[in-house]
Amino acid sequence: MERRATNSIRNMWRVTKAVSHPPTIGDNMVEVRFLGSGNAFCPEGRLHSLVLIDGQILIDAPPTILYQLQRAGLSPSDINTLLITHWHGDHIFGFPFFILERKYISDREGKNIVNVHLHKGGNERFCNISELAFPETLADVLQNNVRFHNSPTGLVEGVQEWQYERFEVNHVPVTDPHGYQLTHTSGFTIIHCGDSGPCEEIEKRSSEVDVVIIEVGIPDGVPTEMHFKPSSLRELAEKNPQTIFLATHLFTSNNEIISELPSNVIQVSDGDRFSWEDGQLLQISN
Ligand SMILES: [Zn+2]
Ligand SMILES: [Zn+2]
Repeated sequence: MERRATNSIRNMWRVTKAVSHPPTIGDNMVEVRFLGSGNAFCPEGRLHSLVLIDGQILIDAPPTILYQLQRAGLSPSDINTLLITHWHGDHIFGFPFFILERKYISDREGKNIVNVHLHKGGNERFCNISELAFPETLADVLQNNVRFHNSPTGLVEGVQEWQYERFEVNHVPVTDPHGYQLTHTSGFTIIHCGDSGPCEEIEKRSSEVDVVIIEVGIPDGVPTEMHFKPSSLRELAEKNPQTIFLATHLFTSNNEIISELPSNVIQVSDGDRFSWEDGQLLQISN
């Protein structure tokens, strides 16, 4: 396994670093792993966008969540926390499968809790999709092993080191679209923008945090402002040259590069892993 400083990061970080040991999550280290990097249409070589932080926190629950965890060598019962951005199917329809697997396979004895942070109104919606997917099957897990949290700010439940703030973004309004700002005890800050087009919240926060996980769901020319496109991401990244943008929820196939993005934008692939250590973002390649 090789780790190297990303080639598109702040000048001060332009250091090649190669170490031979796999990363160990410590007090001052954060790991961000992409279990999927595609938009709702799963472009060639990409499953739906899915981010795993420190091996325990998942942002969203796409339909193929079980396969995405499996191919990363993880079990659903390893996951303590879900942070849900909005109600589109590519972000939440994996939830019934996720708790079904825990009930019958990885947590048969019902010893584990999964904490689900989501906007108000989400608890009922998650119970409904679970009942729709597997009628009269999941009520006990929902009752005993799932804890819903609706507060817009606080400690990330189920882990020790993170605080969060959920903020509104610019996407289909009926889906209650939000992003998350996460602050680690080391001081590292990252936002996940959910699905969103340009908006004040993302503008403001992009200048304040270390890393921005941002979607580029559609190409230029599609007549909507509810997703970032290459041109709007370029504009945002050029305005914030000190911030690293990890572009996901991509509309492009995995072997296609959007050429016009500046050097502080990294277009991720499924399986990409990054760690933040001592003020540097390192890309870990297998
Ligand atoms: Zn989406
Ligand atoms: Zn969406």
